[in-house]
Amino acid sequence: MKRNPHLSLLQPQYLFPQIQQRKREFLERNGPVDLISLGIGDTTEPIPNAVVNGMVAAAERLAQKETYTGYGAEQGQEPLRKMIAEVLYHGRVNPKAIFVSDGAKCDIGRLQLLFGPSAKIALQDPAYPVYRDGSLLQGVSNITYLPCTPENDFFPDLSLAAHCDLLYFCSPNNPTGVAATRTQLEELVAFARENQQIILFDTAYAAYIQDSAIPRSIYEIEGAEEVAIETSSFSKIAGFTGVRLGWTVVPETLKYEDGHPIHSDWNRITSTIFNGASNIAQAGGIEVLKPEGLAEVQKLIHFYRENAHLLREALQKQGISVYGGVHAPYVWAHFPDAPSWETFQYFLEKLHLITTPGSGFGSTGEGFIRLTAFNSRENIIRSCKIIANNSLSSLIL
Ligand code: PLP
Repeated sequence: MKRNPHLSLLQPQYLFPQIQQRKREFLERNGPVDLISLGIGDTTEPIPNAVVNGMVAAAERLAQKETYTGYGAEQGQEPLRKMIAEVLYHGRVNPKAIFVSDGAKCDIGRLQLLFGPSAKIALQDPAYPVYRDGSLLQGVSNITYLPCTPENDFFPDLSLAAHCDLLYFCSPNNPTGVAATRTQLEELVAFARENQQIILFDTAYAAYIQDSAIPRSIYEIEGAEEVAIETSSFSKIAGFTGVRLGWTVVPETLKYEDGHPIHSDWNRITSTIFNGASNIAQAGGIEVLKPEGLAEVQKLIHFYRENAHLLREALQKQGISVYGGVHAPYVWAHFPDAPSWETFQYFLEKLHLITTPGSGFGSTGEGFIRLTAFNSRENIIRSCKIIANNSLSSLIL
């Protein structure tokens, strides 16, 4: 049996296993050392009680013959889809356009099936690695990288992507932590309309936007429903990284060039290779979107935003240029004089802080590291003290 040739196009190791390996090697050399993880973007704080209680009640219903349910509606439970449409999209999106899933990453991996391997795609650089790797796995070979740097306010020169079919775009962005402005998103939608392209818009961190002038959804931009698919997630809203729940919006107005609706194909794809999100997770999602749940998760988001603020301040006091970390749980710190993996290694060995090297997100990420605000307040304060007490000058020319 021959190996799928597309597999050989992937880097031998996904970014986070590589970080784990460096951590293991360091601990093997130095014995037990208390390392603080500001690396992987995984939530640390418990899920609010009201939400957990909803999931417990859903699990208990499965224990009774009268209330047991098996496979659910393929597109997701209708009450959940209606709540997502009303609470998160304020009625801008029709519940029929919402497909509940087991998470945004899984949907991003499946979405490429809509367009096939000949699609020409454009990615922000740096970007969440799944856009590229998921596309490579599907046989996509025509990839254009759009550099996002401090010089262009992390909004790319779209003209580089004029020949592309699909534009992946993430706001607030992982890894830079920067949220696109309304004007930038208007430019993106106008560009896609002009060039008859489709935008795959990822809003996994939209809940961290606390400024009403910044759009939380691409559908806040007029005309986006004819050019954009949006993928999102409960992971970073409510600590559902392990529970697994997300959704994708495919408006019924979205068409291929021959006029065929994309919505019906996405329905066909998901009902063929996905059997619906867990009913327990969906019960949790419904609780998140009720007023009590929303108030609780808002506290969690506020907590992580404050963590990001503390990290930003600590780095800035050391003279480091930092970006993001205001409308996102990620801080993008600039160390232009050293390769990212070298800065990562310095933080690991000298500061005992685990970060993520920017180059792992694309070549434009070289010279940056990403720090995540997902940690306890105690660990964030400890990290800030370590940063304050160590000169980072050897990393700066
Ligand atoms: N999209 C972005 C930009 C992310 O950073 C992540 C997770 O880190 C995801 C999607 C994945 O979300 P989920 O947990 O729903 O698969």
